[in-house]
Amino acid sequence: MKWNQRNSDLLMVSVETQILKGKPVADAIKAKLSHEVEVLATQNIIPGLAAILVGDDPASQVYVRSKQKVFEKINCYSETFRLSAETTEAKLLELISSLNVNPKFHGILLQLPLPSYIDSQKVLLAISPEKDVDGFHPINVGYLLSGEPHFIPCTPNGVMKILKHYDIPVSGKHTVIVGRSNIVGKPMFALLVQKFEKGNATVTICHTGTPDIKVHTKQADIIIAAAGIPNLITGDMISEGVDIIDVGINRVNDDSERGYHLTGDVNFDSVLGIANSITPVPGGVGPMTITMLLSNTIQSAKNFI
Ligand code: NAD
Repeated sequence: MKWNQRNSDLLMVSVETQILKGKPVADAIKAKLSHEVEVLATQNIIPGLAAILVGDDPASQVYVRSKQKVFEKINCYSETFRLSAETTEAKLLELISSLNVNPKFHGILLQLPLPSYIDSQKVLLAISPEKDVDGFHPINVGYLLSGEPHFIPCTPNGVMKILKHYDIPVSGKHTVIVGRSNIVGKPMFALLVQKFEKGNATVTICHTGTPDIKVHTKQADIIIAAAGIPNLITGDMISEGVDIIDVGINRVNDDSERGYHLTGDVNFDSVLGIANSITPVPGGVGPMTITMLLSNTIQSAKNFI
């Protein structure tokens, strides 16, 4: 029994919170994928990804650079198509049309956000569903919701792999997702609610229209935090023994040389000793996203055989 003094109202806590790191999960998956890439190489197939980057959003640049490294390390091909922030929608659609029919690429990733004058939905629709390794095309969203997923969006799929790797029970549990985006919250719901191998949960989704998210997070067995608000969830909002997956990656300005640090949506220190487990930020869900992108691209290469 110990006291968690970081909460304003001192809480008596008795739980040793497990830290769920993403790297061991990602490494185990990459080892399997590496073997699949070797097998494909014997058939002269190299899984290839085309990443499209419009403008110079710093977070997107970082993501695309790390993706390239991960792909190269496992002998997959990855090429980044950099377009200026002034690129027209027509030019972008033209590039996508050519990539759709280019056999070198089995996956096309359109790095979001796009400049505001470009209609993101129209551009996403132009990507061939067979190469939509992000799983954002409405056809793939439909497949997922109907229980027969083709490409599962990478971050939610990474969350499921973490739950599986650390043997966190999901079936029959009350899972509370905070955030309803097309990228994280909604596909997370689709995965958790269905009767998949790791799923079958009772799911609540909180969002900006939820008057008091604490009412829901207090009742959760599992919390998936994906709101993009630093420290939104604090120790007083959870119950003892909850498992927490913190998807949030937020830049918070500070006095460091870099000028900022990364933090999740959960106030990490305040939940220690109360939660059963939590993913750290950075180092939790982050490493999973690129790994699942790699997985989807390899799956796509196999689909094209
Ligand atoms: P988004 O801005 O598109 O969606 C955020 C959602 O949270 C919205 O649906 C909104 O309704 C909800 N929300 C916002 N404030 C809220 C509040 N105060 N209370 C309740 N709900 C609230 O963001 P996103 O793209 O889904 O990303 C969410 C977070 O996850 C961000 O921090 C992002 O950087 C991070 N992210 C991480 C990875 C990864 O690889 N780990 C991948 C994608 C996104």
